[in-house]
Amino acid sequence: MNQGNPQSLQTRLVQLGVGRDVQTGAISFPIYQSATFRHPGVGESTGYDYTRSGNPTRDVLEAALAQLEGGSRACVFGSGMAALTTLFLHFAAGDHIIVSQDLYGGTYRVLEQIFAKLGLAASYVDTTDSEAVAAAVHSQTRAVLVETPGNPLLGVADLCALGELCRAQNLLYIVDNTFLTPVLQRPFDFGADVVVHSATKYLGGHNDLCAGVLVAKSSELGERLYFLQNSCGAILPPQDCWLLARSLKTLALRLERHCANAQKVAEWLTTHPRVSAVYYPGLPQHPGHHLSRSQAAGFGGMLSFRVDSAATARQVLKRLQLISFAESLGGVESLMTLPAVQTHGDIPEPERRRLGICESLLRLSVGIEEVGDIIADLEQALA
Ligand SMILES: *Cc1c(COP(=O)(O)O)cnc(C)c1O
Repeated sequence: MNQGNPQSLQTRLVQLGVGRDVQTGAISFPIYQSATFRHPGVGESTGYDYTRSGNPTRDVLEAALAQLEGGSRACVFGSGMAALTTLFLHFAAGDHIIVSQDLYGGTYRVLEQIFAKLGLAASYVDTTDSEAVAAAVHSQTRAVLVETPGNPLLGVADLCALGELCRAQNLLYIVDNTFLTPVLQRPFDFGADVVVHSATKYLGGHNDLCAGVLVAKSSELGERLYFLQNSCGAILPPQDCWLLARSLKTLALRLERHCANAQKVAEWLTTHPRVSAVYYPGLPQHPGHHLSRSQAAGFGGMLSFRVDSAATARQVLKRLQLISFAESLGGVESLMTLPAVQTHGDIPEPERRRLGICESLLRLSVGIEEVGDIIADLEQALA
């Protein structure tokens, strides 16, 4: 099939799972809702023994995700936090990791309130400044975990420079690719060793599923992640594997619209008198604009903006009609949050203020509705 002609990512997404169920020819790959599998004889296996260790529906999804990112193996988990927690269990007491200072609040919480006690230390560094990352490396440092674009101010880290630093210092290079997905950004091209996703966001894309993904570049690291997944057991169940695989079929199409809508909304917000700042890498005045252009195929669907006061921010959230005031991002439906109180509520207040996450900052996950309707809702909420 298709010799010497690699299919485009979009085509591979649409065709995910097709032709995999040889026995029936099912176009939609079936849900194998079985916890265990019958052995043909002692020491024999169909390839499946027990669902924590492996499940045919999960295999189809994991193989597709590994291929999409260009890695050797993917493991799927019950949430993004389950994926990250499992990854952190790769480290030992005494190890140190460097992470983005504007990290997802839940990742900050698990590092500070759980892994710190187990002896895994973390430094929070501005990963948009590669020299600051280099300066934070010491003899116990084992890894760099970068989220780019950052959350919620969409700062852009130099994936290539960080890749070179990690290679030179022999550090595990981990990229949380939740915001852009492999459709727009391919961390393995820049030397990453592990890619992380909260698949609850764009990969799932419909606000109806919690899931997480780890993808390893090398087969050796892939084996290690699989060992951790099977040992710790935070797997994604077969029905959710099927739903996530189904959702991935439209990923490229959805992102095209997310990007186009976000660009228009960001441009419109810059003209509004009650908006004092707009953070979107697609705006030429954004500090990460040129870097983003050089390392990603689009600017994504996430933006943040500052209004004239905390009271205005609260008023906007109260008045929204089409856009929902809700946590999360990356779904087809537009959602708005107040990061200082919600997603970043676990970060201490002085630290939040230093990062510029105050109560007049709103974050918008721009959905795929008609863009005029999104802007009209913002207009009436800001009036
Ligand atoms: C949401 C999110 C997570 C956590 O994922 P869950 O699926 O909510 O557990 C991790 N990283 C980023 C960037 C996220 O947005």
